[in-house]
Amino acid sequence: MSACTTSPAAPHAVIAERGQREVFCGLTGIVWLHRRIQDAFFLVVGSRTCAHLLQSAAGVMIFAEPRFATAIIEERDLAGRADLDDELDRVATRLIARRPDIRLLFLVGSCPSEVIRLDLGRAAARLEERFGRSPRVLAYSGSGIGTTFTEGEDACLSALAPTLAPAPGPATRLLVVGALADVVEDQFRRLFAALGIAPVDFLPARRADAMPPVGPFTRYVLAQPFLGETATALERRGAVPIAAPCPLGAEGTRLWFESIAAAFGIDPAHVDGVLSLPVRRATAALAAPRARLAGRRVFLFPDSQLEIPLARFLARECGMILTEVGTPFLNRRLMAPDLALLPAGAQLAEGQDVERQLDRCRAARPDLVVCGLGLANPLEAEGFATKWSIELVFSPIQGFEQAADLAALFARPLARRALLEV
Ligand code: SF4
Repeated sequence: MSACTTSPAAPHAVIAERGQREVFCGLTGIVWLHRRIQDAFFLVVGSRTCAHLLQSAAGVMIFAEPRFATAIIEERDLAGRADLDDELDRVATRLIARRPDIRLLFLVGSCPSEVIRLDLGRAAARLEERFGRSPRVLAYSGSGIGTTFTEGEDACLSALAPTLAPAPGPATRLLVVGALADVVEDQFRRLFAALGIAPVDFLPARRADAMPPVGPFTRYVLAQPFLGETATALERRGAVPIAAPCPLGAEGTRLWFESIAAAFGIDPAHVDGVLSLPVRRATAALAAPRARLAGRRVFLFPDSQLEIPLARFLARECGMILTEVGTPFLNRRLMAPDLALLPAGAQLAEGQDVERQLDRCRAARPDLVVCGLGLANPLEAEGFATKWSIELVFSPIQGFEQAADLAALFARPLARRALLEV
C-alpha cells in the first residue's frame, strides 16, 4: 500500500509519501549514545535480530567490555511469558552486580510483540527501587515500527528530560541539546567562553552524574535536527527554545552562534569579532571540496533527518544543485531556519515510498545520491555515486573546524567514481 500527495507549500514543493521504507531502527542510536555517556549501559530488551543489528552496527568490540547488551526474550510459549518481568529483573540485577561502574541503565524496548506487551517504564521504576536509586534506571523505545534510526536518540533524551534537576535562577543558562563528539563540544565551549555566554550545559553530558539542570531559566538550542520529542519534553520543564539553523558548515555554524548570542543579548560587534577568524578559516578550507562539488547534482533519500540542513549546506556552501531532498518527517517548526535558507523551489519529499522515489532518482540522474545502506549497493551497481547517510551521524560534522571534513565526505564518492570511470 502506498499513498502520495503533492502540496505546493511555498516556497518549496513537498511530496508527501507513505509506503515501503528502507531505514534502520532506533536501536542504532545506542552506538553513538554509549560512546557519549561514558558510564551508561544500554540493555536492549529484544530479539536475536536486535542483537545482530547492534553487533554489526557497532562492530566487534574487543578492547573494552561493551556498554550495551541484548536480553533476548523471543521464542516463548504462553507460560514462559508470565515470568518475563522476573527474567528481566534477573538479567539487570546480574549486570549491575558485575558492573558496579554503571551509573545509568537504559532499558531499551524493541519491536517483538512480547516486548511491546512489557511495561518497561514500570520495570525501570521497579529496578531503580531495588538498586536503591543507583544506578538510575530509565526506559525508552528503539523499536523500528514507524520510526527511523535517529529517533532512538530523541527517545533516549526525552526519557532523560523529566529526570533532570531543576535549574537554579535567576541567571539564564544555555543548554545545547544533541549528542556531539567530545571534540566538537570542546570547540563549542571555547567559543561560548569567548562570546561571554555562561553557564553552558550539554545534553547528554559525558557522565550520568553531570546531567544538566533545566527549568524556566534555561534557553535551549538544538545541535541535531531530529530531536522534536526532546524539545517538547524540555519545554514541558519550562525551557525556552532558540531558533537557529543546524551548526553545519561555516555559514550554518556562524548563524547558529549568532542566534544564540542574540538570545543572550551579546553585542553583535563582539560576536563578529569572535567569529570572523573561524568563519574565514572554515570558508577557506571549504574551497578544495567545493571545487569538486560545485555544479554537481545531488539527490537525498529520507534517512537520518539531517537531510534538510545538509541540503542547505550542500547548496549554499558547496554550490551543489538539489534534485530532491527527502526527509522521514518534516518538523516545520524545528526546521524553519534551515528551510528558509534552501534555494527557492527546492523539491522536498516527506516520508517514503521507496520504489517511486527510486524511479524519480533514476529520472533525475544525479551525480551523487545520499541514502541508507540498503539502497547504496543497488544504486552503485546502477552507476550512481552514493554517500551513506548513517556515516554523517557517526562522524563529528558540526562546527567550523569540521566544515571542510563534512564537504569532503560528499566529495570522496565523486572522486572514487571518477577514478572508476577513467
Ligand atoms: S528493534 Fe525491531 S527493527 Fe530494530 S533490530 Fe529489533 S526487531 Fe529489528
